[in-house]
Amino acid sequence: MAICKANGYGHGLVEVAKTLTTADAFGVARIQEAYALRQGGINHPIVLLEGFFEEADLPKLVTDKIETVIHCEEQLIAIEESNLAAPLKVWLKIDTGMSRVGILPEQVAQFYQRLKASPNVASNITLMSHFACADDLSSDMTAHQLDLFHRIEQAYPAPSSLANSAAIINYPSTHKDVIRPGLILYGATPSIEHDKSLGLKPVMTLKSRLIAVKKIHAQSTVGYGATWKSKHDTIIGIVAIGYGDGYPRHAKTGTPVLVNGRRVPLIGRVSMDMLTVDLGAKAEERNGDEVILWGDDLPVEEIALNAETIAYELLCGLTARVKLTYF
Ligand SMILES: *Cc1c(COP(=O)(O)O)cnc(C)c1O
Repeated sequence: MAICKANGYGHGLVEVAKTLTTADAFGVARIQEAYALRQGGINHPIVLLEGFFEEADLPKLVTDKIETVIHCEEQLIAIEESNLAAPLKVWLKIDTGMSRVGILPEQVAQFYQRLKASPNVASNITLMSHFACADDLSSDMTAHQLDLFHRIEQAYPAPSSLANSAAIINYPSTHKDVIRPGLILYGATPSIEHDKSLGLKPVMTLKSRLIAVKKIHAQSTVGYGATWKSKHDTIIGIVAIGYGDGYPRHAKTGTPVLVNGRRVPLIGRVSMDMLTVDLGAKAEERNGDEVILWGDDLPVEEIALNAETIAYELLCGLTARVKLTYF
């Protein structure tokens, strides 16, 4: 199941789905995302990873052939009490330790039986869970969650789905019947540093240009708050990108930026529409030159680390102002 929620992790929902034609299903978080995929001509199974939020949406799930997670009693009751034109495919989400959505292990018996008994539910129920710490090999959390899931699975033999990107990489024993890759589809890794050994190729290159190149004197300050001061005379470049585009404002001084393929440091605060780099006193860059903020030779994971966030947040945080171009 290819996870393409949050606008395909910033890559464009429908474009991503049109590209991943061999996926068996697409996973989304919001019903609007499912509708957008159908409107975009995607005919694959689509799964609502947190299920439906409104009982009134159930008939439309049937007509649009959208599958739903069931993770709480309200959803169970809604599906039991509706009168649907055809049964829905259901994924029963079990909380094995994440304590986010999902029913507790002791509720499985009741939910499973009631779902089985409902004419609104298709017979092929899949069991699902989600890991809290699959990116951390030093944690025993995944083993505990897996163990708990195995005990449930023995009592209720059904297809199952557990693994997100981190579990796909780190815990092959979690792969089961359906894997749910998100981030790795886009060529980034859930670990702190981009792990080259996985051979993942970043799908997105975030580009802009220099819109000014200028000499500044020693002891000049740069940007809001005047947080950076030049030690020597130097040449700075102003780049037309900022937090209004989704570049993280918390990226600290020294965060690498590629200008004509050369790594130069971000300096001072990122503003809404611009950021500044120190090109050095001998710089030969010209106004208009290409700037890469992340991509092939500059993993988004590295920028995330410099901004005290994760690759996920940077990718899906691109704003509508960024023009997406496909090659
Ligand atoms: C988002 C999501 C995934 C994908 O997670 P990645 O870490 O991006 O691979 C898998 N399963 C569920 C339920 C999700 O919500």
